[in-house]
Amino acid sequence: MYVIWWNIGKLCFESDTEPYALARDKKVSDFAMASGIEVFTPVSHTLFDPADIINKNGGRPPLTYQSFIAIAGEPPAPIFEEYSELPPVGDTGEYELLPVPTVEELGYGDISQEEIPPFRGGETEALRRMKASLQDKEWVAKFEKPKGDPSGFLKPATTVLSPYLKFGCLSSRYFYHCIQDVYRSVRNYTKPPVSLSGQLLWRDFFYKVFFGTPNFDQIKGNKICKQIPWSENEELFVAWRDGRTGYPWIDAIMIQLRKWGWMHHLARHSVSCLLTRGDLFIHWEKGRDVFERLLIDSDWAINNGNWLWLSCSSFFYQYHRIYSPITFGKKYDPNGNYIRHFIPVLKDMSREYIYEPWTAPLSIHKKAKCIICKDYPKPVVDHDTASKECRKRMGEAYASNRLDSNSSKGKPSNLSRRKWSHGDHGASNSSIAKLLRTSRSE
Ligand SMILES: Cc1cc2nc3c(=O)[nH]c(=O)nc-3n(C[C@H](O)[C@H](O)[C@H](O)COP(=O)(O)OP(=O)(O)OC[C@H]3O[C@@H](n4cnc5c(N)ncnc54)[C@H](O)[C@@H]3O)c2cc1C
Repeated sequence: MYVIWWNIGKLCFESDTEPYALARDKKVSDFAMASGIEVFTPVSHTLFDPADIINKNGGRPPLTYQSFIAIAGEPPAPIFEEYSELPPVGDTGEYELLPVPTVEELGYGDISQEEIPPFRGGETEALRRMKASLQDKEWVAKFEKPKGDPSGFLKPATTVLSPYLKFGCLSSRYFYHCIQDVYRSVRNYTKPPVSLSGQLLWRDFFYKVFFGTPNFDQIKGNKICKQIPWSENEELFVAWRDGRTGYPWIDAIMIQLRKWGWMHHLARHSVSCLLTRGDLFIHWEKGRDVFERLLIDSDWAINNGNWLWLSCSSFFYQYHRIYSPITFGKKYDPNGNYIRHFIPVLKDMSREYIYEPWTAPLSIHKKAKCIICKDYPKPVVDHDTASKECRKRMGEAYASNRLDSNSSKGKPSNLSRRKWSHGDHGASNSSIAKLLRTSRSE
């Protein structure tokens, strides 16, 4: 009906490659095409078109960053046309314009007493923020992940452009192009994977892998995910989720997540490692869900990809390398300013005990007005014992995955004979699952 009223001839929308969006958009496209409407859905959310990269790689997603870079080449240039206004949307007298929903209507209750996160939305803010970061050419040229201070909160050590990229306030191609401009104006600069442009390539890398990997967001039926028998422990999980593990470094990060919706990359490493292979041995999907709900940059491909990575379920396999919930943060912030900000009850704890308050004598607790077990919890697990046990269980899980993969070796893969297009993933996840069934073993 609306199609006839509005006399629509062409429908344009950005291609969204997440499985849910593909299935939804296919319904819209099918309906439009059946009504004689031309449909145009360019890929502009990522640097490259995932289907192109998979086709170039013989029908399978590149599973390492290096192989992705080797295939990808330079991303297409961004479009530079600027529009100061949008064409009118027909005669609006016919339609009711709905108001923007309130925070309460979105299900967040009363937030009037909460700390306001320092990030503002919108394209203008995204461009301002990007320009401010790129103005410091030396900083851009020397940018090197994983160097950088995860405890920096007044002035974060990275760009904090992830929420803007996620919501399309900032084009990743435009950002990439502007970084290249900076590189052209300096003598030396860092290179991928550690450079700033390398970070945008990581983003694209995860988009490419998930596009060619059925069930990327779960352990079940996911060919690139190690089968690890994670344990269930609701009490430990809730302590982690709510920032009540008794390890101030970990709790401060989880509280920053709840309050600000953003934390530094290495802070995310610390808490995801502790939840999974580091200490608690809890399923990465549970942590992923918490991040998905609370991050303001929550992104299906990147979030799942990084949880697979940090839990040593895929991409990264050095499970014996575990972040200490005590010494890791201390290296960057010996005075514990980050902890004091996000956990006010610890603000007067002496510097000596700020990372392990349970080891302080009662006199120190009293002086800091923070009694352990009353005002702040004691650790939910002993890190030394728990991490040792985790290493053992990871070793056993890896050994049994090796056995499984050896027994399925030698089966042919039919992936490489296939051409990929956008429609593939959403159209039939299960048919792709069948195609991929014999694709990979570690
Ligand atoms: C467990 C875990 C979950 C994560 N979940 C998300 C998520 O849901 N959304 C998200 O955008 N990032 C996620 N990340 C990746 C990374 O932590 C953030 O992209 C980064 O911290 C955002 O800060 P920034 O914009 O200042 O990054 P910068 O260092 O300034 O990098 C610029 C951009 O590069 C991209 N980028 C940087 N690091 C990565 C990475 N490791 N993987 C993919 N892209 C990257 C982001 O788009 C980022 O905005 C996760 C990391 C971990 C360990």
